[in-house]
Amino acid sequence: MIEADRPRPLKEAARITKMLDAVFGDDRFDRGPVDVARLALEYSANIEPNGPIHEVVERNIPGCIGALVYSEPRPRQWAIMYHLNQSAGRRAFTIGHELGHYVLHRRMIEDDDAYDHGIYCDENSIIRRNGSGIEKEADEFAAALLMPFHDFRKQLPAKERPDFDALGRIAKRYGVSLTATILRWLEYTETRAMMIVSNEGFAHWAKSSGPAFKTGRYLKTKDTVFELPQQAFAARRDYSDAATVGTMQATHVWFPEPVFEMCFRSDRYDQEITLLHFEGEGPRYQGEEETPDTFDRFIQNGQFPVP
Ligand SMILES: [Zn+2]
Repeated sequence: MIEADRPRPLKEAARITKMLDAVFGDDRFDRGPVDVARLALEYSANIEPNGPIHEVVERNIPGCIGALVYSEPRPRQWAIMYHLNQSAGRRAFTIGHELGHYVLHRRMIEDDDAYDHGIYCDENSIIRRNGSGIEKEADEFAAALLMPFHDFRKQLPAKERPDFDALGRIAKRYGVSLTATILRWLEYTETRAMMIVSNEGFAHWAKSSGPAFKTGRYLKTKDTVFELPQQAFAARRDYSDAATVGTMQATHVWFPEPVFEMCFRSDRYDQEITLLHFEGEGPRYQGEEETPDTFDRFIQNGQFPVP
């Protein structure tokens, strides 16, 4: 794809990525992740000297994960705020998301009365990457900036089925959370895989890779609560090393085919991440099994990565 044809979030992220590659070298991730807070200050001062981001700060913003706010007096001073008690990994993605709003949407946020001195972003938008419109754009920007595909694909080829060790190493490389890492991988993997985030035996949300979705392997968590199968590690509260390594689950535990399941618990966020690896290319997707409504709803919810 040539640069001019790319959607703007990807184009802007690619511009900064190129600049960072030029300054720090193509192998910069071997030495550490993007210092996104510093980048926000320096890059904004560069592109908008009269209205830069002047601080990146932790604040108590109930119900929100992050925000991009501006001062009333002109010239504007902008600030990125991230909510209290985020792990370093979550914080990095939050700051990346808000920097995305600054780079892509600051004029609109200033001009539109619908925004009250800034934009406030919730968990659904930032952590689940399930927002729409400008929320989706800010997520795409953050993911591309912090985890560029050209480097990610080298770490994890598209046909590989990673375990939590491999995914954890990559999360560390990019300084982001395990969840953000898996969501990024699910965007390009050619394997059929699914991530499920649960608590107390119920799935709160799930995300499938494109190939998994096309073969009907997804969970509906939008308007309904999905109870985990009894044999699932998370349902059995089995968070042992064996759960992290994983096991083969028989046909009909999760789906009408066997699946390799692994589970990792985060005490900090009181939730479990279950990863399912399906074998092969799987059964052909039978369109008539699902109503168009369901399919459309999944596309609208961003469950299906539209190319
Ligand atoms: Zn946002």
